[in-house]
Amino acid sequence: MTIIKTNTADIQTIKLLPEHLIDQIKAGEVVERPSSLVKELLENSIDANSSKIEIQIIDNGLELICVEDNGKGISFHDLPYAFCRHATSKIERYEDLYKLNSYGFRGEALASIASSSKLLCQSTPLDLTNGGRIEIDGGRQVTLNPLPNNKNGTSIYIRELFYNTPARLKFIKSKQSEKNSLKRIINSFLIANPSIDFSIKWDDKEKLIYKSLPKGQLEKRLCKIFFNNKKNHLPLHMFNAEYEGNKIRGFLSQESGRGNAGKSHFLFANNRLFNDKSLHQAILRNAKDLWGEGNTGHYAVFISTPPSEIDVNVHPNKIQIKFFKSSTIYSLLSSMISRSISEQIEAEVLKPQINSGNLSMPSPLHIIENSFNISSSESTEGTFLEKTNTEIIKGYLISNKYSIIELAAQNWIVDNYRLYSRFWNTLQPNETTITPLLISEPFYCKESIESSSKYLETKGLEFERVNKDLVLLKTIPEEINGFSLSSFITPFFYFYLKKSSNNLHQHIEESHPQCFNSINEVNNILKLTSVNLLQDKKIIVALTETHISNLFSLT
Ligand code: ADP
Ligand code: MG
Repeated sequence: MTIIKTNTADIQTIKLLPEHLIDQIKAGEVVERPSSLVKELLENSIDANSSKIEIQIIDNGLELICVEDNGKGISFHDLPYAFCRHATSKIERYEDLYKLNSYGFRGEALASIASSSKLLCQSTPLDLTNGGRIEIDGGRQVTLNPLPNNKNGTSIYIRELFYNTPARLKFIKSKQSEKNSLKRIINSFLIANPSIDFSIKWDDKEKLIYKSLPKGQLEKRLCKIFFNNKKNHLPLHMFNAEYEGNKIRGFLSQESGRGNAGKSHFLFANNRLFNDKSLHQAILRNAKDLWGEGNTGHYAVFISTPPSEIDVNVHPNKIQIKFFKSSTIYSLLSSMISRSISEQIEAEVLKPQINSGNLSMPSPLHIIENSFNISSSESTEGTFLEKTNTEIIKGYLISNKYSIIELAAQNWIVDNYRLYSRFWNTLQPNETTITPLLISEPFYCKESIESSSKYLETKGLEFERVNKDLVLLKTIPEEINGFSLSSFITPFFYFYLKKSSNNLHQHIEESHPQCFNSINEVNNILKLTSVNLLQDKKIIVALTETHISNLFSLT
């Protein structure tokens, strides 16, 4: 804003801060810790079209951070401007923010770094004339000289970071945490730029070299980083998806383990590392069939979207990103991961069975299911379950088909498929109990949903088609709020779409055997059901001695 001056300077208590103080305050947003500084320097080197970048770090960046590149350089004339706040060669107009092809655009990184350290920069443009050398201490220019006969590129040396802002130095975390953060940032650039030659030197250790890779060999660099140079790992699981100009390419390790320690998790949008909790959670959730329940593995996911459809200017550190079509990206990513993993699993399951020719051997699950087969037994044994408000005390999903629960001082066998089928048949949601989903759930579906959509809507399920392969679920009945939606709705959805058999429970058994994800879902449905249902001996019967002895006689 431009101020029209008044004659009241003597009583003025609100004053404009001096430039150097503004620089120090703003610097906190951009260079919070050594890793954020390394990120800014590497972004600049890549924006300068460098094909070779050398990094040196001493004492986790507090003693020295040095980045040298062979990019297009800065001329002697431009050199002091590069260290002024809001000085950039990358954008000219506000609209340019939505056409970004560069990492940088705010023109404040070098100013922030220079205001919080002792800095030396030598740079020479491509024509090898007009190079320069500048020294800045705590934002104050100390020397500026021409630099004749140098090779093209830029070298920046940063010493004694935060020496003049001790309060900020105090916020630096433990050595290990700073090192982990530095490694994560550097690794993200190695992964996002496989065609660049990198070398990294930590303290007085030997240089780590990452040779530039030809197009299509990103997996090599990923494996080097995920597995820390160890050999004998499984190949990465890969997936690709594309929808309306949004492309997603993902790589998941097949190895996994408990907890996140030591795991690499990288999300990129237009080759820029960013953090997003809900996308991260979606990846972990959808990869659980590959990694096992509760485990995580390594991943790198690259999202490419038209520059006009993302906003990078959410925070000065540019690590938060807003997608204009976040729901589409979320759905596309979730559905692609789970689909590609189930395709891989299907291929692997089929292989050994076909080879061994031993399809009829009963598995332990078959034995349990046969001995607990409650739907075919005409037995009058066992009591009815009275409608009760008591919670299940204990319960297990012993297979996809059966649960055993303890309720009202008795153990019961529940036929999950019949319970599920009865739930949908008797469900009658009304307008007030239909809940819109904040994030739509994707379903793969090439068939037309027109003819089934009316019926599905009477059950509170409203779908919208996004492309020829994908529909999004927009609303659900409130009764299933909190359920694992994709496994709970899939059997019902495909049954109504394909009508491949007459009975929903038969259809589940044959084509979508997992309808409940946890015993809590069985419990919640039991709580909703009527007395009538609980007296249906095809759905729930008391667990008796006979069932147990069946189990042992069959094994
Ligand atoms: P931004 O990257 O947002 O433009 P910076 O403060 O990081 O702002 O850099 C200011 C300017 O200095 C850049 O716009 C660029 O012109 C120049 N610059 C910085 N680092 C390099 C480099 N390694 N090689 C060439 N030019 C650079
Ligand atoms: Mg920059």
